[in-house]
Amino acid sequence: MFDNETIGRDAAARPESVFTPRPAPKPRRYRAVTAAQLDQPLLRNRLDEAARFEMRVVASVLPFRVNEYVIRDLIDWSRVPDDPVFRLTFPHRDMLEPEAFERLAELHRRDAPKAELAGLVQEIRADLNPHPALQMELNLPRTDAGERINGLQHKYRETVLFFPKNGQVCHAYCTFCFRWAQFVGDKDLRIAASDARLLLDYLRGHREVTDLLMTGGDPMIMRTANLANYLEPLLAPEYDHVQHVRIGTKALTFWPYRFVTDPDADELLRLIESLVEAGKHVALMAHFNHGQEMRTPIAREAVRRLRDAGAEIRTQSPLLRHINDSAGAWADMWREQVRLGMIPYYMFVERDTGARRYFEVPLARAWSIYREAMRGLSGLARTARGPSMSAGPGKVEVQGVAEIAGEKVFVLRFIQGRNPDWVQRPFFARYDEQATWLNHLEPWGESEFFFEPEYRRMCAAAGA
Ligand SMILES: *Cc1c(COP(=O)(O)O)cnc(C)c1O
Repeated sequence: MFDNETIGRDAAARPESVFTPRPAPKPRRYRAVTAAQLDQPLLRNRLDEAARFEMRVVASVLPFRVNEYVIRDLIDWSRVPDDPVFRLTFPHRDMLEPEAFERLAELHRRDAPKAELAGLVQEIRADLNPHPALQMELNLPRTDAGERINGLQHKYRETVLFFPKNGQVCHAYCTFCFRWAQFVGDKDLRIAASDARLLLDYLRGHREVTDLLMTGGDPMIMRTANLANYLEPLLAPEYDHVQHVRIGTKALTFWPYRFVTDPDADELLRLIESLVEAGKHVALMAHFNHGQEMRTPIAREAVRRLRDAGAEIRTQSPLLRHINDSAGAWADMWREQVRLGMIPYYMFVERDTGARRYFEVPLARAWSIYREAMRGLSGLARTARGPSMSAGPGKVEVQGVAEIAGEKVFVLRFIQGRNPDWVQRPFFARYDEQATWLNHLEPWGESEFFFEPEYRRMCAAAGA
């Protein structure tokens, strides 16, 4: 039996629905905040002098950029410094080795000459493994004329990654970003492509490619008109083999206005709609690291509009100490994503680069967090694979810990491999409670992992 009173009461008790009509969101102007603005009121009023000094020191090595929305709406300042979005965006001294931090701090304290600072900064960056997984050497395809194509990676047969030149920044930077080296202004470290023609020629010539993955930086930093230069041509029949268009983005967290009130937001949704109507699968590969990122009305409205336009939203995140290293944080995040209509996709292991010393979680612990989070969730939220390492040979998932002949082992498998034949074959490594990456693992029951001889040949052939 329903009467108005019960309906009214139920509605009040229900969690907010994405379909609940609400006042139209107010547009907002994007304003970036970088190290140069650390002393302005917005941050001076929220952070003491010592904290800002440490941030300035770390930000001379690792990229730092937030924006007013992140500062005012996403960070819970009553919980700083432990607030997850604060950890996700603001530098911390422990992100550098103590010795490196001290040397840098000393130069900052005495206002050392620019050249001296630059020399040390370069030295420290070089120690932070700026190119994990041989990104530069192995993945740059060539044109038919043998010319290298910058900004395109073709690591797995069916998938091409494209890094548009005008998508090489983000609305804010993640402190753990594995592509940090691109953002520090060092031209040698950039891998961006400037020309849509390069991409389109390559795709036309490679019929095996079903997936185009636009990545960056954040492609959503581009105006819709720029994005359309790359994507609209795919509507032509010669690109029918490119069935899946994925766009990697953190804009749902850092600037959801991009999809709602920005001047070309509607045009973007129409672009997505036209791809979907032409039979393509359009997937936003959304980076979310914590449930807190998707709780603002504007973020929810952005999700709702994207889904209305026919896009799927798949979510991925690394497991990060100080941000989301608990089963509760993952369960909460995945549950919330499913409730909003998003599809959990990957749990990554933090890569061997940048500030990994601050964020890394051992593989054994990563797997137990994954398992514990999964255990309590609806099957609909169990679509995320992981914990997965994006390493040189491919994506390697820790499937679990088992005991074979009285010995504890990791059970591993390739989710993606440079050779597709490596995929989905279980293989084993000695259990190691401290190991945080593939190269720490020792094969179990064989002298080397089954893929190693072939991978060595691939590297040698590429001159890496
Ligand atoms: C993860 C990844 C992909 C996409 O792999 P899927 O398993 O299809 O999601 C493509 N290229 C690279 C380099 C990747 O790391």
